[in-house]
Amino acid sequence: MADKPTMTTSAGAPIADNQNSLSAGPRGPLLLQDYQLIEKLAHQNRERIPERVVHAKGWGAHGVLRITGDISKFTKAKVLQPGAETPMIARFSTVAGELGAADAERDVRGFALKFYTPEGNWDLVGNNTPVFFVRDPLKFPDFIHTQKRHPRTNLRSPTAMWDFWSLSPESLHQVTILMSDRGLPTDVRHINGYGSHTYSFLNEAGERFWVKFHFKTMQGHRHWTNEEAANVVGRTRESTQEDLFEAIETGHFPQWKVQVQIMPELDAEKTPYNPFDLTKVWPHADYPPIDIGVMELNRNADNYFAEIEQAAFSPSNIVPGIGFSPDKMLQGRIFSYADAHRYRLGTHYEALPINAPKCPVHHYHKDGAMRFFPNNPNPAAYYEPNSFNGPVQDERLREPPLRISGDADRYDHREGNDDFSQPRALFNLFDDAQKQRLFANIAAAMGDIPAEIEERQCKLFDQVHPDYGAGVRVARTTIRNRNPAISAPTDQTLADASN
Ligand code: NDP
Repeated sequence: MADKPTMTTSAGAPIADNQNSLSAGPRGPLLLQDYQLIEKLAHQNRERIPERVVHAKGWGAHGVLRITGDISKFTKAKVLQPGAETPMIARFSTVAGELGAADAERDVRGFALKFYTPEGNWDLVGNNTPVFFVRDPLKFPDFIHTQKRHPRTNLRSPTAMWDFWSLSPESLHQVTILMSDRGLPTDVRHINGYGSHTYSFLNEAGERFWVKFHFKTMQGHRHWTNEEAANVVGRTRESTQEDLFEAIETGHFPQWKVQVQIMPELDAEKTPYNPFDLTKVWPHADYPPIDIGVMELNRNADNYFAEIEQAAFSPSNIVPGIGFSPDKMLQGRIFSYADAHRYRLGTHYEALPINAPKCPVHHYHKDGAMRFFPNNPNPAAYYEPNSFNGPVQDERLREPPLRISGDADRYDHREGNDDFSQPRALFNLFDDAQKQRLFANIAAAMGDIPAEIEERQCKLFDQVHPDYGAGVRVARTTIRNRNPAISAPTDQTLADASN
């Protein structure tokens, strides 16, 4: 057997005994000078960092993005040119559950990707759904509060969820997806991913296009019913971690077909829906998905904490050839994701090995907690502009101006917005059995919410499709027959719901 290395303190001093504390006599007490013991206990106390406020429970792996299609006329991004192979890391997650939550829960799945491109890191921080519950970031903290624990009971609250959703018709599209089969996937190999937001592409000629990114599972879709999931959770709380880790460990590398939908810049003024509204998709018939390559996950992390928990994804990370859009939710997330990581991991989180770009990095940010990255080899150039050959801007990377118009105001995003047509298109895609499961899932998720909230929500379903509202009402009656404690809508609650 090879010689074993000598164990050391974190300062590198060799350790003589890692079994017995230093004590005054065999029975103790212990001596304060046993720094080795103190260091060990102090480190243990610091083994946790704040969990993510949302998307706390996650699973991830390393992989590669291979581009085969040619979209060079739309974007100059090197990562998207034909033949490009880019190393990457993916982290999937549930949204509401805490770090120890069970995996097999009905919830949206986060689908966060970091591509280490030669022009900097490009992050796509999407979900397994193409849309979201809210369209204005001012409502994001309110929405998340409804998904988390009630301040008094410390339990999750169906009343809060359905109260908020029934008062926010823009949530109908995402609620319908969440309550459909795809709301409870068996694992993350069998889900699609969507960049969700509208981004922009910029080509060599300086032309702008709007773009949406899609990642279509090549493993097929698989989901559980609520009953199946309850059995799974009774057996294991880690079903997704087990599935992803085991598949990759045994060489069954999951793959996703990568697609983009592309919209010419000026089309954005013509579509009947706002193409920057995160509660809307772009219908495939209008903007057909274009295949551009395959994403494959093929290597498990060696250290979950260092490579998955400390991975920090932010939609603010774009590269030349890919830009933002006026999507208000994207604008909000550009701030809040990077800010969340500064809080969770520290000021210099992007210098951590898992987040560090694999291309040269030249910035003038300076000190702060955990400033551990290498010194600037040119120490005189620590401000800009300078006369000491420090890094400078490159005007060739300037984006073309974006035409915007309108007065600064707080515009009512619900006024004149059609929140029903797209959920209706989805509802019409479901076969009868899928519809029945949708109704039953909604009825179950409503629990014992007040009858007026239930009716207010059913009225929204009516506007999507009369069969939708009627189906949920029937499913609720079935549940009430089983549990008479759940109150039924009365004439009064129906009247209240109309107000
Ligand atoms: P299409 O028939 O061309 O596309 C339908 C899409 O719906 C497909 O991408 C399909 O995904 C997806 N889908 C099927 N079942 C479900 C489900 N239970 N939950 C979520 N998505 C599902 O129609 P349109 O493009 O006109 O869109 C119609 C509706 O489909 C939209 O209103 C939207 O609700 C939904 N949808 C649309 C997407 C888009 O980008 N246009 C993307 C995803 C959903 P798959 O190909 O993997 O089977």
